[in-house]
Amino acid sequence: MKIICIGRNYSDHAKEMNAEIPEEPMFFMKPDTALFREKDFYIPEFTNDLHHEVELVVKISKVGKHISLQNAPNYYEEIGLGIDFTARDVQKICKEKGWPWEKAKSFDNSAVISNHFIPKSELDLQNISFSLQKNNTIVQNGNSNQMIFSFEAIISHVSKFITLKPGDLIYTGTPEGVGQVKIGDVLEGFIHDKPFFQLKIK
Ligand code: MG
Repeated sequence: MKIICIGRNYSDHAKEMNAEIPEEPMFFMKPDTALFREKDFYIPEFTNDLHHEVELVVKISKVGKHISLQNAPNYYEEIGLGIDFTARDVQKICKEKGWPWEKAKSFDNSAVISNHFIPKSELDLQNISFSLQKNNTIVQNGNSNQMIFSFEAIISHVSKFITLKPGDLIYTGTPEGVGQVKIGDVLEGFIHDKPFFQLKIK
């Protein structure tokens, strides 16, 4: 399986990063070794500025290439929640040098994923609210209705370049409020006020 992540899919987040809003979905990838389903998360030694980015995650259910916008709903059945952990200090250096982002984005355990996914039939896809709490305070709060590119637009665009397969995960971008995590923090992710994961930062 593979992990595809969309960048700058919420305009408020693009603003907080001083980044332009993209004209088409912008994506990068993480390897399967990035997946993290445990409770105790250890900050890697190569960063002094690890940031949380909470994101809705689409699980691909069918093989597809060149998927049209109209057919895209047939290629996913479930939505989960994850964190696209980012070594912001490392990313800044990569950006300055014009290097790829992998060191900052694709390291081991950088793709937190909920153990539970919700069937999309149980959701209003245009109105999925989700949030991240740090030490019981909400730090990120988003809704699928704020996405610049919809789940369908993302699937259609990515599949022009890369064949999608069952089990592939697409992280659909983070709303504003990204920030640093420190040892001792507790992060909890919610969709519609239901807990989806809890992490202890070590
Ligand atoms: Mg992200």
